[in-house]
Parts: sequence; C-alpha cells; structure tokens
Amino acid sequence: MNNKRCSNCGEVARRVRENYLFKESGLSNVVLENIEVIKCDHCGNADPVINKLNELMRVLALAVIEKPWGLTGGEVRYLRKFIGMNGESFASVLHTDKSLLSKWENNHEKIGSKSDLLIRCVAFSLGPGLEEERLRRVVRKFPEINETPKVVPVRVDLEELTYTYA
Ligand SMILES: [Zn+2]
Repeated sequence: MNNKRCSNCGEVARRVRENYLFKESGLSNVVLENIEVIKCDHCGNADPVINKLNELMRVLALAVIEKPWGLTGGEVRYLRKFIGMNGESFASVLHTDKSLLSKWENNHEKIGSKSDLLIRCVAFSLGPGLEEERLRRVVRKFPEINETPKVVPVRVDLEELTYTYA
C-alpha cells in the first residue's frame, strides 16, 4: 500500500522521508529537507516527490538572488534559465556577449561585481512570480554581498517554501 514502483527499473520501491540533494535543479548545493523520496533497493534509484515544482524553482531563484556571496557560474545559468532566456538574449540584456556569458556560466571567467548585481536585478525583474516588496529588501542588502563567488549550501523547507544558508 505504502509502496511505489521505481521509475528506473519498475521494481517495487520504498517511500521514505529524508533530506534530498536536489541536483536536478542544476544547482549543486540545494538540500530539500525531510521530503518524500521513492527509493529503490533493487537499482539504487531515488526519486524525490515534488508537488510544488514551480514554487520550488522560484524559491531557489530567490535563494540565489539573495545570496550574500558572489554568484557562481551555475547560479548565473540557473537564473538565466529561470527567466526563460537563451544565452544570446540574456547577454544582450546585460550588454555583454554570449561567449563571455558562457565563460561566466562555466566558471572560466570571473564575473565582475557590477555584472553580478545586474544579473540579480534582471533575474528578479523578469522572473515569474517574484514580488516587488522583496526586491526592495534584496537590493538594500546588496552592500552586504561579499564579492567572492562561493558555493553555499542551501536548505529548503518544501512545506513552508523557505530556505536557509547553511
Ligand atoms: Zn529501481
């Protein structure tokens, strides 16, 4: 009754609650806390149960935009995809070129601090469902951002749709 089929091999899998490293987001550092996971003992596959995917992606975008450290390449890519832009369109909004943007996204070139802030503002302005009130709060905190890019673990509470930096 409490079991499900594995999406990978079709064997009966277990339903458990645990923390899940959400690599599918494209971010390496996001943990969904205490969520339902369908675990297969047969092939080792684990599928997270995520009912509020759009809300989750929005929360993760906010977690990136509010992050008190410089953005990593993966985070720039996440924000670009979140607002549904290809490299060329996003580069043109930022007044940069697509090859430089690609270098940023692949951590081959350091992102200047002003570009970093502009990327956050553009993502916030164009991202679906991000509230103005929050934007004001985020921009006021810009002086506190340490310009060094850093991968910071983010822990997400899917029920409350909140996050903390570890
Ligand atoms: Zn399986």
